[in-house]
Amino acid sequence: MVAATVGRFGVLAAAVLAAAVPASAAPGDVAAPPAAVEQSAHANITRAALEAPIRFLSSDLLEGRGPGTRADQLTRLYLQTRLEGMGYSPAFADGAWQQPFDIVGLRGQFPKTWSFQGRNGRIDLTWRDDYIAASGLQSESVSVDDAELVFVGFGVQAPEFRWDDFKGVDLTGKILVMMNHNPEAFAGKRRLYYGRWMYKYESAARQHAAGAIIIHTTASAGYPWQVVQSSWGGEQFELPAGNETRLRIKAWATEDAMRRIMQSGGFDLDKLRAAAAARAFRPVPLGIRTSLAFTNTLSHVQTANVGGVLPGSDAQLAAQLVVLSAHHDHFGIGEPDASGDRIYHGAKDNASGCAQVLAIAQALAALPERPRRSVLALFVAAEERGLLGSMYYAEHPSVPAGRIAADINIDGGNIFGRTRDATLVSMGKSSLDDIALSVSRWQGRVVEPDQFPDRGYYYRSDQLSFARVGVPALFFDDGMDYIGRPPEWGRQQREQWELTKYHQPGDRLDGTWNFDGMIEDAQRDLLAAWLIAQADAMPTWKPGDEFEAARKRALAALGGN
Ligand SMILES: [Zn+2]
Repeated sequence: MVAATVGRFGVLAAAVLAAAVPASAAPGDVAAPPAAVEQSAHANITRAALEAPIRFLSSDLLEGRGPGTRADQLTRLYLQTRLEGMGYSPAFADGAWQQPFDIVGLRGQFPKTWSFQGRNGRIDLTWRDDYIAASGLQSESVSVDDAELVFVGFGVQAPEFRWDDFKGVDLTGKILVMMNHNPEAFAGKRRLYYGRWMYKYESAARQHAAGAIIIHTTASAGYPWQVVQSSWGGEQFELPAGNETRLRIKAWATEDAMRRIMQSGGFDLDKLRAAAAARAFRPVPLGIRTSLAFTNTLSHVQTANVGGVLPGSDAQLAAQLVVLSAHHDHFGIGEPDASGDRIYHGAKDNASGCAQVLAIAQALAALPERPRRSVLALFVAAEERGLLGSMYYAEHPSVPAGRIAADINIDGGNIFGRTRDATLVSMGKSSLDDIALSVSRWQGRVVEPDQFPDRGYYYRSDQLSFARVGVPALFFDDGMDYIGRPPEWGRQQREQWELTKYHQPGDRLDGTWNFDGMIEDAQRDLLAAWLIAQADAMPTWKPGDEFEAARKRALAALGGN
């Protein structure tokens, strides 16, 4: 078994550094980097290099790094000055290390009852129990007056899969009722971006609809109704509105509530859903009408992304970037836990990601020869508010998106020890798979695909913002098979952590942390970054991938450059 093998780039592998073991030749194999790269990995990606930034960023004095706070400013100054000390250059225009942007907070006051009138009578939905909604407009008062409901199946337009739920029907001013997830007909059980709520509301807005209601089921969402209540029931955060078309209402309803609404119009929810599984499905006007008026309390805070560049050594390729990203924000100070702690330290989420990017940045800067492409170490803000910092960067990139070779995003670190495996959440999407598989093999590790393909983890952290503008993204998650532990141990640790620490004050650095796995993961990500930076060509999406069209647009936008 691999258990006894010490990977070439493993933490205990220093002794075998001199005797570089060539990776076994396999299709899609990538040539191994020179010894200097692995030496730098071992010299710079160490427990101390990772633990020190985590200790600082997750300390009580940093108050949970909530966006717009003084602690947020201190966090950014720390990251910026660390990059400066390593010899990086400011990433943004006019020599700026930071890219500021505003966050709009929206706290909606929705009515206790939302009524729907069908030909068989009136149905009243109760706030929280039956429906949850958020404002689509950044306005103090919003209303929809006597709009008609239209069932649009999954609400998906996917030309690469020859799928269009709208079939050219005019949906202006309608309330679109949509199923969650994406059609099995083209995606199987795997959740693509088409299966995320973010896509659903964007898709409805493109149809100039007045609003959209997503039908919640635990199976199709991947989480129970309580999660909808807690994540949508409070303040919502967005980037300031531009001139894009926007919905007025973004709503969720329980399956039971939607069943009653459908009955009020003489429709059977199950029959509608069955029809929507087919490519030939067309929107179904329901003859059910509704009005809704609500008010919002608006707030504005400013935060910023932080970025530094290590300029590339190749005259041509230096104009292109390899991005290493990690979000620097967390939830700040909030509700206390059982011990009375009110600081959401965010040590694993994501002080540990920032520490890994810092260590990788240091290892790259220490190389005798700089990589051919430029490398951007990017610490994005407001991920926990809905990927806002990375979205802002993707919309206002420091170089055009068509010149960003790839993003390697790190959200969280392994705190439980070394693993025989690694989970590649982005598996199957781009040519980055070859690099990911090769570097993992050199470490003596196997690569597993996303263990929860129905949950759509690829779409839940900052790599999504890059993918949406066409940049291929590499996203690993922790392995599950811990060396020296029984088979189920990893899963148990993970579940226990999610239950007791995830997004809670208890996400602290403490004596239980084992850094060996995190060190190995960061060394792997350094090798991947180096390989991407050296390759003659930029990575590409697999043909037919959902983000391939965005890449083509980004490359076309470069013109002759
Ligand atoms: Zn988080």
